[in-house]
Amino acid sequence: MRQCVYCQSTPETLTRDHVFPRGWYSQFTPKSVQRWIVPCCLECNKRHGENEESLLVRFGLALDPGDPEFRDIIEKANRSIVAAAATSNQDSEYREKLLLKLRDELLTGGAELAEHALVLRDGSWAGQDGQFTALQIDKRALDTLATKLAIGLTYWDEKTILSGSYSLTVSPVNEPDPKINEFLSSSGREVSGGPSIYALWGFHPRAPNHRVYYFEIFRLIRIYVVGIPSPHEVDQT
Ligand SMILES: [Zn+2]
Repeated sequence: MRQCVYCQSTPETLTRDHVFPRGWYSQFTPKSVQRWIVPCCLECNKRHGENEESLLVRFGLALDPGDPEFRDIIEKANRSIVAAAATSNQDSEYREKLLLKLRDELLTGGAELAEHALVLRDGSWAGQDGQFTALQIDKRALDTLATKLAIGLTYWDEKTILSGSYSLTVSPVNEPDPKINEFLSSSGREVSGGPSIYALWGFHPRAPNHRVYYFEIFRLIRIYVVGIPSPHEVDQT
């Protein structure tokens, strides 16, 4: 039975989902890099596609515009808010609205932080203090992306479906934990998707039934995802 790895539905039509969004691979991604593709329903594909589009604009704005490795990614993100790059009037309006929305969301010293927002400043997750200009990233959007990466990668690698059997907690960090990552790289799995994505995962050093994932996106966004078996799964074993 073929099912969507994200929601476990078994629709008649399944599509192929790029666990790491196809358009997020930098042009410097080596040809040999294997793309992570998993079965996914149309609804999840659409939902994740929209979430990723909205995150990419924000990540693109946070990347160093002079970084040649990500020039194509930054251009792609920037184009989505340039009305002149639109292909129709409707598209042009959409881009203008998005630009205004982003301007509204920009934080300067003393501005109120939206509920569920994380602050990204000069490429780091930051508190809201002092004078600065920073981007707000919706924590729920980041959770959706990070849990998708964990679920998708686990299915791609070992055909295990995490959805439903693990509860996943997402923690963005500024720096990786060297002890955890050393343990994971000696005992777990490591995949590099070129400059855009690096993933490291395995079981927790002190709680071997807990899964730990580390993702580094665009050498900018660093995220841990910890998976704890859901209670009913524990009962079954
Ligand atoms: Zn689905």
